[in-house]
Amino acid sequence: EPLLETKRFGRDYHFYASLPSTNRTAKELARQGAPEGTVVLAEEQTEGRGRLGRGWYSPPGLGVYFTVILRPAVPLSLAPQVTLLASVAVCKALETVAGVQPQIKWPNDVLLNGKKFCGTLTELNAEMEAVNYLVVGTGINVNQGPDDFPGEVANVATSVHATTGEKVDRARLLAALLRSFEADYDHWLTSGFDRLRVEWLERAAGMGKTVRVIAGQQEWVGKAEGIDSDGALLVRESGGELRRLISGEVSLRPE
Ligand code: ATP
Repeated sequence: EPLLETKRFGRDYHFYASLPSTNRTAKELARQGAPEGTVVLAEEQTEGRGRLGRGWYSPPGLGVYFTVILRPAVPLSLAPQVTLLASVAVCKALETVAGVQPQIKWPNDVLLNGKKFCGTLTELNAEMEAVNYLVVGTGINVNQGPDDFPGEVANVATSVHATTGEKVDRARLLAALLRSFEADYDHWLTSGFDRLRVEWLERAAGMGKTVRVIAGQQEWVGKAEGIDSDGALLVRESGGELRRLISGEVSLRPE
């Protein structure tokens, strides 16, 4: 029985025992013309990245680290929706394969019991206000035990195994992730963001709660109220004004 049930995602793939970063290699391949759906997969990353230049700890044997190249013919302004749809696709795959109920912390973290086990990082290349290519990287802590995290992340990190007590077959999980991701991406291309917005909100962590918004040097506190039809986060300031946040440079902390 074939593992991979996709049409395009993962049909071209590049596997490496070790890479600095799957996103970095995917960007090189995209520049060289690699087709949509090309996957870069690494058993470990030595310089895995999160947002804003932060590191993503990616040890061998325990996690799944991969990047998909996308070439949607859409304006630049729709690109942030891809980060949100990737998080939804990860949740749905994990719900099916591992029977867990992940939550999403805007914009790109996926949580189990309030701790991070997955991050996605979308990077963009644009020409003339239109997307040329996107690379969407996903790092998932799969079979780590509670003691397998380094000190800096031990308090904030978890894994699928640490949550369920079961070991997950990583090849099967990757196949499910690619299937889920392709289905949601194709839905987005043909039908837009509406259904994905609902599915995102069903899994959203922290809605209705007070959050600290950190945007460069600026910090303020407000109440997270949802996401709008574009995927921007809606946060109500103490003065009553509703602000729209685009994912680029903004971080949220519980307050
Ligand atoms: P934001 O809330 O703005 O997304 P973040 O700190 O969650 O900020 P990310 O870019 O999403 O930033 O992820 C990088 C951060 O995740 C690192 O700074 C580290 O604290 C944490 N981290 C690194 N590796 C792992 C891992 N394997 N599992 C869980 N958390 C990790």
